[in-house]
Amino acid sequence: MDISVVIPLYNEAESLPELFAWIERVMKEHNFSYEVIFINDGSTDNSWEVIEALKSKNPEVVHAVKFRRNYGKSPGLNCGFQRAKGDVVITMDADLQDSPDEIPELRRMILEEGYDLVSGWKKKRRDPVGKRWPSKFFNWTARRVSGIKLHDFNCGLKAYRRKVVKSIEVYGEMHRFIPILAKQAGFRRIGEKVVEHHARKYGCSKFGLERTVKGYLDLITVL
Ligand code: UDP
Ligand code: MG
Repeated sequence: MDISVVIPLYNEAESLPELFAWIERVMKEHNFSYEVIFINDGSTDNSWEVIEALKSKNPEVVHAVKFRRNYGKSPGLNCGFQRAKGDVVITMDADLQDSPDEIPELRRMILEEGYDLVSGWKKKRRDPVGKRWPSKFFNWTARRVSGIKLHDFNCGLKAYRRKVVKSIEVYGEMHRFIPILAKQAGFRRIGEKVVEHHARKYGCSKFGLERTVKGYLDLITVL
């Protein structure tokens, strides 16, 4: 299989049909064999019903896991990583802020340029200033402590060589530091690609100040 797309989600019902149709279009245009793994992280809206409908229409492509409660984005990604079968594994957020159009180039960078991990860089970020400034400080800290020269550690859109996702364990709020986990696991070819970023179309952000604080505590754990 060429590509696994891993999508953790918490209450994103409105976005899912559009997101899936967009991914499907890109995959078909490029003739990729692929799977989409949805991890429903304890949603209380009808995300699960939407996923089940997508799955019954596309049983070969759509795989889904349902968490009994909200565990967080990191356990969601970890669960998807365990199941992924593609040579290249792409992660993206469910809320249409990340563009599936980036997938072919991310894959090419892994397969042809030899990267183990390519992280998206939301250079023109469509988020409120209250998210952008803490994030700049966070990225500065993460660069200083890890020595990895990335602008945007926490971008949800990333591509991995399959063996990378099978070699790391993502828990707590660790999804912010996956490049650091990868480096610690011995994967040193870490690159970045400027990616298109969209404003959130439906619903609201799931990450407030409390989780940012938890994220910092997990940086200490990582170190
Ligand atoms: N998410 C999740 N579990 C959570 C919180 C968020 O699976 O406990 C998902 C969310 O549904 C989305 C992605 O993680 O697909 C990124 O979340 P969000 O868009 O709220 O973050 P932001 O873009 O505001 O940083
Ligand atoms: Mg978002």
